[in-house]
Amino acid sequence: MAKKTIADVDVSGKTVLMRVDFNVPLDKERKITDDRRIEMALPSIRSVTERSGRLILMSHLGRPSGSGPEPEFSLAPAAVRLGELLGEPVEFASDTVDDDAKSKVGALKNGDVLVLENLRFSKAENKGDEAFAGKLAAMADIYVNDAFGTCHRTDASMVAVPKAMKAKGKPCVSGFLVEKEIRYLKDAIENPRRPFVAILGGAKVSDKIMVIQNLLRICDRIIIGGAMAYTFFLAQGRKVGKSLVETDKVDEAKRILERGGDKILLPVDTHCGDAFSADCEKRIIDGDFPDPFQGLDIGPRTIEKFKQEVAGAKLVVWNGPMGVFEMPPFDAGTRAIAEAVATSSATSIIGGGDSAAAIQQMGFADKVSHVSTGGGASLSMLEGQKFEAVEILDEK
Ligand code: AMP
Repeated sequence: MAKKTIADVDVSGKTVLMRVDFNVPLDKERKITDDRRIEMALPSIRSVTERSGRLILMSHLGRPSGSGPEPEFSLAPAAVRLGELLGEPVEFASDTVDDDAKSKVGALKNGDVLVLENLRFSKAENKGDEAFAGKLAAMADIYVNDAFGTCHRTDASMVAVPKAMKAKGKPCVSGFLVEKEIRYLKDAIENPRRPFVAILGGAKVSDKIMVIQNLLRICDRIIIGGAMAYTFFLAQGRKVGKSLVETDKVDEAKRILERGGDKILLPVDTHCGDAFSADCEKRIIDGDFPDPFQGLDIGPRTIEKFKQEVAGAKLVVWNGPMGVFEMPPFDAGTRAIAEAVATSSATSIIGGGDSAAAIQQMGFADKVSHVSTGGGASLSMLEGQKFEAVEILDEK
């Protein structure tokens, strides 16, 4: 069932407490070097201010120690940047639940925005502390979760706060960012258009075992590329030279291959190099890799084969690059798959992290249905995990 969103509640004259992800990168002068996370929250923010709601924003930034304010992790620069983006002043409270926050919340008028200081300045946030959550919950009439990147966590602002607000009969809903992530990473995958093709790559099998197990249940094909593939080659008894492998995962890879059968598609040729460098001696290999060669990208025949699979799909989920895409010419496989996904008529979902970075870098981000904003959260959702922070939100 779909979750209620901020659009489903009347916010006029109400105080709305919204969990956002303003965990933006800062340089040494505490200048924001990439404000995309703030920009992405604007639709949910405007939905409150334009309908005369009073908005309190809360977020974490970085990993402070949790024993009090640390200026380098202050959210003050994010509040300033938000004000610039909105073209209106934004208030900032120098604490989270204490005197400054309380007095500024009390002074909020309809349409105003207040940013609270970093939630992680207190250990209570990470611990999911109920007393801390109770203080936040008491500030507002409506709770909104628009922080997908933290949805797999059980921090106070993600779970204990909505729990406390629900107990008082206050609405708890999702923001537009979280709504879109759920629509694609959960709903589209649970009720897939078929054929459903999953493409998995990246450095490690260990990071993606649970994703493979879950998707094997649901999808029609799993394409495996990246260094991950070489652990599967070992499981087939092949030699992979100096390739990056996880020898402790070979048995697991064997079991996956037995269970997956024809559903699993491995590379049929590999672009290898005799060293991990762009100017190494290169060779396309389709059998055992001789020493000192290592696999660095999928080969040309594999590219064609994978592209055909993508072309026939109605739903494509992609997580993890096909090779060392940061080091041309070993970006060719990832680039070709990115293009195939972007030009296909399938619903296309790109998991967060490196594949999201790759598709953005290659200029295809606006040609796919959804690029996830969460790394860990997106993988956990593909693993089929249920998130308490999402489950707790009101149903439509
Ligand atoms: P992950 O974080 O697991 O998605 O892995 C992404 C990283 O895997 C990227 O930095 C790629 O360069 C790396 N990678 C992909 N294929 C290979 C390969 N064949 N050999 C070494 N590293 C690889």
